[in-house]
Amino acid sequence: NSFEDFKLNRQLLNAIEEAGYTQPTPIQQKAITPILAGQDLMGVAQTGTGKTAAYVLPILMKLKYAQGEDPRALILSPTRELAMQIEADIRSLGKYTDLRTVVLYGGLGPKTQIENLKKGVDIIVATPGRFLDLYSAGHIFLKSIKFLVLDEADKMMDMGFISKIHRVLEIVPRKRQNLLFSATMSELVHKIAGDFLAFPTKVEV
Ligand code: AMP
Repeated sequence: NSFEDFKLNRQLLNAIEEAGYTQPTPIQQKAITPILAGQDLMGVAQTGTGKTAAYVLPILMKLKYAQGEDPRALILSPTRELAMQIEADIRSLGKYTDLRTVVLYGGLGPKTQIENLKKGVDIIVATPGRFLDLYSAGHIFLKSIKFLVLDEADKMMDMGFISKIHRVLEIVPRKRQNLLFSATMSELVHKIAGDFLAFPTKVEV
C-alpha cells in the first residue's frame, strides 16, 4: 500500500514525500478513499496515528486551488495547540498548492486573524469560541462551506463545546461533507455524530 494508490495529485505526492511519509498509516489507508469519494466519515483514532493527514490530504485534493474569498472547508479543534498543529500539517502537505489557510483561536486579540480573513481564505482551522465570535462580528461568510471537520470530538464534548457545535451546524450550508474524528466513542460523541453525519462510513484503528 502506497500513497500512489490514492488518486492524489502530483503536488500532494511531492509534499508527502518531502514530509518523509513513505507509506500511509492504517487510518490513512482506511479513510482517504471514502473521503475522496465524498462520504461522511467517522474516524476513531488517537492522536499520533496520522489522523490529521487522513482528512487533510483528501480535502486539499478536492479543494485543488485557491478560489474566491470565502472559506470552503472548516476544521474545528478543541484546543489552540491542536489548531496550530493542524494548520502546520496543512501548510506542509499543501506547500505546492496555492490554497490559503487561516487559523483562529482565542487567548490573543483578533486583529491579525481578521486581517488574514480579509485577504481571502480557502480553509479555516479554528477553536469553536473564537470562530463563533468572528462569525457573529461579520468577519466570516459560510455560504461556500463544502467540508466540515470536527477533530478530537470527545475532547470537544469534555470541554463543554456541545452548544457551540450545534450553533455551527445551524449556520453552515446543509449540503456539505462531514468528517468527525475522536479518540473514544462516548455517548455524547455518538449523539453529536448522529446530529452531524449522514450515513457515515466508520473507520477505526
Ligand atoms: P497525527 O495523528 O495527525 O497527530 O499525526 C502524528 C504524526 O505522524 C505527525 O507528526 C505527522 O506528521 C506524522 N505522520 C502522519 N502521517 C504519516 C505517515 N504516513 N508516515 C509517517 N508519518 C506520518
